[in-house]
Amino acid sequence: MTILLIVIIGLAAVAAVLLPILRPQHEARAGSAQTPLDDAAIESRVEAYRQALRTGTLCLRCGFANAEGSLFCAECGERLVAAMVSARSDAGT
Ligand SMILES: [Zn+2]
Repeated sequence: MTILLIVIIGLAAVAAVLLPILRPQHEARAGSAQTPLDDAAIESRVEAYRQALRTGTLCLRCGFANAEGSLFCAECGERLVAAMVSARSDAGT
């Protein structure tokens, strides 16, 4: 029984060392598969972030630029600043 526990702990230790070593290779492969954005695509993304910053719909947790009027992040579900501001002004009045 003790030997089994030692083997399990040993395997967990080996996995903890090997997984971070193996992971960057997967990310590099995934990154190279992405096509680079052209100028128009970059500009439209910048405009989406600009709009999200103005309207308070930029997610503070994941950085996703949500559409105007959004109360929660479409990417991660976090409550957005715009929702907090409107809730606060509702409570104040
Ligand atoms: Zn988010």
